[in-house]
Amino acid sequence: MRYGLISDIHGNLEALNAVLADLQNHQIDQLVCLGDIVGYGANPNECIEIVREKCQIVLAGNHDYAALKKVDTSTFNNYAQDAIGWTIKNLNPASFAFLETLAIFHKVDQIYFVHSTPLDPTAWNYILSTFEAYEAFQDFKEQICFIGHSHVPIIFMNRPKHRYDIIEKKELHLDPKNRYIINVGSVGQPRDLDSRAAYGIFDADSHTFSLYRVKYDIEKAQEKMRATGLPEFLIIRLQYGK
Ligand code: ZN
Repeated sequence: MRYGLISDIHGNLEALNAVLADLQNHQIDQLVCLGDIVGYGANPNECIEIVREKCQIVLAGNHDYAALKKVDTSTFNNYAQDAIGWTIKNLNPASFAFLETLAIFHKVDQIYFVHSTPLDPTAWNYILSTFEAYEAFQDFKEQICFIGHSHVPIIFMNRPKHRYDIIEKKELHLDPKNRYIINVGSVGQPRDLDSRAAYGIFDADSHTFSLYRVKYDIEKAQEKMRATGLPEFLIIRLQYGK
């Protein structure tokens, strides 16, 4: 079984289409969306429609929940608040209905999929350090947890005898003796100083995870955001990947 893993699309249609085109080069059995289809970008409805059609597993992120008014957006920064306000005004009824159907996590075999953290996912906490990863490893039983949320691709590894490491590899063979928390990065708003859209592929037969980066038409995505009046800060950050 080969899983395509996408997360944090954030209404960026150009980035999503570029990732889907790149995925055509790989044989994928299931496409998994780890949440945050909307928020920030100019095409939330279009992205929802594509995800609904292409993804077999779709989870909710905090921005999807914010669009449904299920999270208190006072914890969001001003730009994110403006963007979610715009998103709520512009989502169509079918999009709202689809977001309402989304699960918070999904487990299959030795894999746990979730947007934020395995424990209390709707607290929307982050796993950014080995200490946070150490805590998170206690909160799920499976070998691998795939996450998004921070928009920064990263792999945390838990070796026997409680050793915790960050692995800086784009391609990794997963050792059955170890456990992993893998952030697949962001399709629509990368924040690791690489402006290219990110996605992952996990091959459950060969136990291999690969992270891919894809160039997309950033200027076109920015033009559309500008035309809608979305905050300039959110527009500019796309070209810097931060
Ligand atoms: Zn996000």
